[in-house]
Amino acid sequence: MALRKLVAGNWKMNGSLEALAELDAIAAAAREQAGVDVAVCPPFTLIAPAAQRQPGLAIGAQDCHGNAKGAHTGCVSAAMLAEAGAKLAIVGHSERRADQHETDAEVQAKAVAAIGAGLTAIVCVGETEAERDAGRAVAVVEGQLDGSIPRDGKAATLVVAYEPVWAIGTGRTPSTADVAEMHAAIRTKLGALLGGEGPGVRILYGGSVKPDNARELLAVADVDGALVGGASLTAAQFVPIIEGAV
Ligand code: PEP
Repeated sequence: MALRKLVAGNWKMNGSLEALAELDAIAAAAREQAGVDVAVCPPFTLIAPAAQRQPGLAIGAQDCHGNAKGAHTGCVSAAMLAEAGAKLAIVGHSERRADQHETDAEVQAKAVAAIGAGLTAIVCVGETEAERDAGRAVAVVEGQLDGSIPRDGKAATLVVAYEPVWAIGTGRTPSTADVAEMHAAIRTKLGALLGGEGPGVRILYGGSVKPDNARELLAVADVDGALVGGASLTAAQFVPIIEGAV
């Protein structure tokens, strides 16, 4: 089943009020490519001004807390993000799994909280290079899905992003055959976890997606879009990737 593609940008800890000018051309491209969903996830501080500047463009967050409120200094709840204008939240990005030691159970709680607040959760999974070299890539990702996917997840509000850790920010990508193998395995696992909802959950590929490789990666079976880091920071790079999804 061909699903409507989603191209989401993850600005990580980059951007400024001035950088929001990039959103004008990105929003224009999103309007032009009406068959593709487009989202940009800037740092927390830019969510509200981004949503105000381009109300027609989906703005997302890069994380949320698993609880609704409480004594969690420095954290932001999903409802706060929704109030600021966010429509999505990335959860379980490998940088947070590594830097903040987030576990699958915490990622699952964040996804549940995001969906509960009316956001779409993008749950990230992906193997390290050592795990791939050991022939364990599929098993690792299946384990992450087991632990991170909300069991009552619905296709309308749940997205999975497959991001091999070794491909993020390195300029390296898996072969299209390896991407196809992993996305097929994720599709099968989602069916096992979510039943009838599984086939409709979009599976994004992420890791060094650039204008010159986007079209090829986005044409692989069961690649329903892309999560883009570095190349989402400028319209000059992000717009051709959006166009590659058509
Ligand atoms: C990411 O961090 O989600 C990502 C895919 O980064 P990059 O595109 O820069 O590899």
